[in-house]
Amino acid sequence: MADILYGNVYAQKLKAELKERYQGLFAHLAVISFGDDYGTAQYLKQISKCCEELGVKLSHHNLALNVDNQESECLIRSLNDDKKVDGILLLMPLPKQIKQNQLIESLDPTKDVDGIHPYNLGRLLYDTSGVAPCTAKAVMSLLAYHNIELETKNVLIIGRSLVVGKPLISLMLQENATVTIAHSFSSDLFTLTNKSDIIVTAIGRAKFLSERYFNKNSIVIDVGINQAEDGICGDVDYQTVADKVKAISPVPGGVGSLTVIKLLENLLVLCEKKRSKNGL
Ligand code: NAP
Repeated sequence: MADILYGNVYAQKLKAELKERYQGLFAHLAVISFGDDYGTAQYLKQISKCCEELGVKLSHHNLALNVDNQESECLIRSLNDDKKVDGILLLMPLPKQIKQNQLIESLDPTKDVDGIHPYNLGRLLYDTSGVAPCTAKAVMSLLAYHNIELETKNVLIIGRSLVVGKPLISLMLQENATVTIAHSFSSDLFTLTNKSDIIVTAIGRAKFLSERYFNKNSIVIDVGINQAEDGICGDVDYQTVADKVKAISPVPGGVGSLTVIKLLENLLVLCEKKRSKNGL
């Protein structure tokens, strides 16, 4: 049986530390969502619970699924200008008619709590002093917590989204891993997974990766959160894979447990920078 890379116990410890650091800050997080996507609603529930526990004010702005760029950007600009708001989170997925890049670029980079504005993603190529996307940070944090060395390792990242795959390239390189990235146009995923030491998957397809993609030395980090008939599951077919690999993160209870904590860590960084700039 593989080592199971849980994130939930570590998340509780980090939350307790954050609670002390948030005291007296009166932080305010604004969240923008579109329509009533199930996954988004679940994520928002977790964010809301964590904010309540940490004493962070949360304001939720739900836009209609048929909203256009202009109206969405107008809301973002008003939150950018609102001095009481410390961080703005745009919940994905965005509706199809929305021009993603244009909307993201309308965010004030100093309030971009998930680090997806071009300024923050560009900064990540230099170092980790800014805010990086919280899911990518959660992956790194889970690996570090379980003492999984990255230096000299061959890491395969499956998925190249702005919030997971792309920022992970930088974070992994900063730890001296050798990084390969796969996506839906990659051929022979089976060979790529089998020759990698660590496989991080963020595809969004329930139980897509079966045991044949892995071997007894594989360390598997499953970022996927998908709905299957028997409940929430990852991109990996956990039941068959867990017996075969060296280590695997569960879904739920793995990366996802740390994502909200990393989001609240990012908000703290933004708050502290803002307060010191204002001399508060
Ligand atoms: P996304 O934007 O839809 O990206 C999915 C990526 O997977 C794309 O780059 C796509 O390639 C690639 N892909 C799709 N099918 C593939 C295949 N058959 N072989 C190889 N690559 C394939 O999704 P996302 O926002 O990154 O989310 C991915 C998953 O992570 C979802 O299940 C989501 O719910 C989950 N998630 C979890 C957390 C957490 O905290 N654990 C946070 C965020 C997201 P192309 O670029 O070529 O289309």
